Amino acid sequence: MGKEWLRLKYPLVEIHLDRLRENAEYIVKLAQKYGVQIWGVTKVTCGHPDVARTLLDAGIKAISDSRIENIQRMRKAGVDTYYTLIRIPMISEAETVVQCANCSLNSELDVLKALNEAAGKYNTVHDVILMVDLGDLREGIWPSDLMDIVGETLKLNNLRLKGLGTNLTCWGGVLPTEENLGQLVELAKSVEDQYQIQLEIISGGNSSSLPLLREGKMPHGINQLRIGEVIMLGNDTVSHKPFPNTRQDTFILKAEIIELKEKPSHPIGKIGLDAFGKPPFFEDKGIRLRAILGIGKQDVAADGLKPLDPGIEVVGGSSDHIILDLTEAEGSYKVGDIVDFTVGYECLLKAMTSPYVEKVVV
Ligand SMILES: *Cc1c(COP(=O)(O)O)cnc(C)c1O
Repeated sequence: MGKEWLRLKYPLVEIHLDRLRENAEYIVKLAQKYGVQIWGVTKVTCGHPDVARTLLDAGIKAISDSRIENIQRMRKAGVDTYYTLIRIPMISEAETVVQCANCSLNSELDVLKALNEAAGKYNTVHDVILMVDLGDLREGIWPSDLMDIVGETLKLNNLRLKGLGTNLTCWGGVLPTEENLGQLVELAKSVEDQYQIQLEIISGGNSSSLPLLREGKMPHGINQLRIGEVIMLGNDTVSHKPFPNTRQDTFILKAEIIELKEKPSHPIGKIGLDAFGKPPFFEDKGIRLRAILGIGKQDVAADGLKPLDPGIEVVGGSSDHIILDLTEAEGSYKVGDIVDFTVGYECLLKAMTSPYVEKVVV
């Protein structure tokens, strides 16, 4: 037996399940009013099983994730639900996908054929939702090619065409509107008419579709949304303000001060590039009280850290250090003290992914 090391306490992320549940319950209720079903998206938490359980307890019908490993993690932990892989499957993972996920989002005929073959091999039927690109230019079938791909998909006997979906506001920043989502509903109607089939799901996007829903402008026929960020962090991804009636303090990141000194705000000497090869910029504010935290850009996005103490400013960071200006902090701090933050989406994604950050369920 090797030596047992003590488990490190910091940095850590607190996952406040009661607060997540409040967000999820509110979004489920809002969507119900318009006949829309919510599938929870757990990818920002790397498929954390307690998070998934909380969403299901709150009335969410199914769980979606972008990584098959995350779906495996939740299944292994005993979270039993209908799972959808929301990143287009790799052909090389097709066999794992049909075994672990009930459904996947798709845009490539070659991938669909690989899934069909894998489903046959494992004697199962795999559900697929075909993604349509309405202009955001991430994944999706071009509308003019849709009819042909639907026709080919219907010939694949081990797949079941569950519906159509779209993804917006991800790459091109294209916002969901009555027009583009209306186009998805129209396409679904043409598919149903041409092939004499019934599509169960018309998936109208991600968190960025919720403002449209809340205004009562979601085109009739959109009956499902895939929601992560609004539930996880309470962010309106369209206005970049808090989403009404949701909480933003669902995840709290805590890191420890390892150095605290008064230093000039402007570096001294000839200035080259920073640790990541970028030219740094400094405003000269004179001598400031600066803290260094034992966490870095390997674990967080510096610009996504929002200190709970409103007087603290995040100045920047390098791989293993985050630098704070505490000059105007409301609290008083010493070396060894813990600083608390709420987090932005990218910051949470990094922190949940980092093996150096403890995850503590509250
Ligand atoms: C990440 C993702 C979602 C969820 O997006 P949020 O903005 O977190 O709600 C939905 N659909 C797909 C395809 C995704 O990749």
